[in-house]
Amino acid sequence: MNLIEKDNAYIWHPYTQHKTAKTPVAIAKAEGALVWDVDGKEYIDAIASWWVNPFGHSNKFIADAIYAQLTTLEHVLFGGFTHEPAIKVAEQLLDMLPSNQQKVFFSDNGSTAVEVAIKASLQYFFNKGEMRKTIIAFEDAFHGDTFAAMAASGISLYTQAFKGMFIDVVRIPVPTSGNEEVSKSALKKVISENDCAAFIFEPLVLGAAGMVMYEPEILDELISICKQNNVLTIADEVMTGFGKTGKTFACDYLSQQPDAICLSKALTGGTIPMAITTFTQEIFDAFYSDDINKALFHGHTFTANPTGCAAALAAFELLASKQIQNDLVRVNKTQSAFAQKIAKHPKVKASRVLGTIMAFDIKTDGESAYYGELRNKLYDFFIRNGVILRPVGNTVYVLPPYVMTDEQLEKVYSVIEKALEEVA
Ligand SMILES: *Cc1c(COP(=O)(O)O)cnc(C)c1O
Repeated sequence: MNLIEKDNAYIWHPYTQHKTAKTPVAIAKAEGALVWDVDGKEYIDAIASWWVNPFGHSNKFIADAIYAQLTTLEHVLFGGFTHEPAIKVAEQLLDMLPSNQQKVFFSDNGSTAVEVAIKASLQYFFNKGEMRKTIIAFEDAFHGDTFAAMAASGISLYTQAFKGMFIDVVRIPVPTSGNEEVSKSALKKVISENDCAAFIFEPLVLGAAGMVMYEPEILDELISICKQNNVLTIADEVMTGFGKTGKTFACDYLSQQPDAICLSKALTGGTIPMAITTFTQEIFDAFYSDDINKALFHGHTFTANPTGCAAALAAFELLASKQIQNDLVRVNKTQSAFAQKIAKHPKVKASRVLGTIMAFDIKTDGESAYYGELRNKLYDFFIRNGVILRPVGNTVYVLPPYVMTDEQLEKVYSVIEKALEEVA
């Protein structure tokens, strides 16, 4: 059997209907913003491999840090033990985050980062002798695929088989332009009618919903409504974190500070799976007691894996470098110029940019499905033309590694323009 035949025989892929799915592309290697398949065909990775890879593939600097750590201390249990890489990650990260973030909890992926935030929020009130069961989330939010994270997610394709099996979540509209007041009054209503523990949100950009964007001012208002009502706020920065929005965190655009922040994806520069949830001292203190029952009984075997921590430290160093900070500005400029140009295209609406993220919608007659016909045609066209892009419904977005050159970006744009002529 060749590679693809073996894949077909043994592997169950994520988000895939195997009966109707196209054959996957077998990738052999990657460097910078480029990946190559086993036949040597080159692709530009215009979505940073599901938004994880800011500094380019097969990055030597991170690889060296990982190798040095692997041959010094590859893993040690984090229950009853600690180590310098984890402590350094915590120290440096808290320095980068909003000043109210004081405690760092490690886990493995974006979903677990959210799971930890939600469990801690519910138990925070339990520990204070108060029963609060409701989580508030945006319509069309995406917070991951484990159970509490899935409950908070509003994309029905992902959650429909489990309806009725979730923790209590009430949804409010995303405060996109024109919907600010609706969102605000929905939040007030939800809080007045339910025992709400926390409001979880993707700050400024809802990624999986199709890079849906809204303004920091209205998020500040929503957070302060929560604060006035003693409802905790959780910023899910799993996608937005570490530079994508042009600032280190989307929360850096806010004047309000959330009570908890979820991080993963670019945390290790797209190398080792790792996640972090950070908390205020006040949340931590609600668990701090002589009573063992008040502890947060949550953990994962690979919690604070030293190799992952070493990768994160290398990634922090790269993010702070002049080179990458310049790239953030450059990519934003190039993306903004294209967004303005493509906005004039008769088939395009709602072109938008925040930091390194550019997105636009293709005008369609009817409703466009998440994995619908247009989306699949576009996806296939991009792959045929050597560009990795995964449209969401009728939304096309480019979220490149920051190191992608302007020349590579222009090539991505020209394939998009061709797709608008030939496919849309
Ligand atoms: C990707 C994502 C998650 C889930 O992360 P996984 O590592 O895939 O579990 C959660 N929240 C947001 C905002 C994401 O983009």
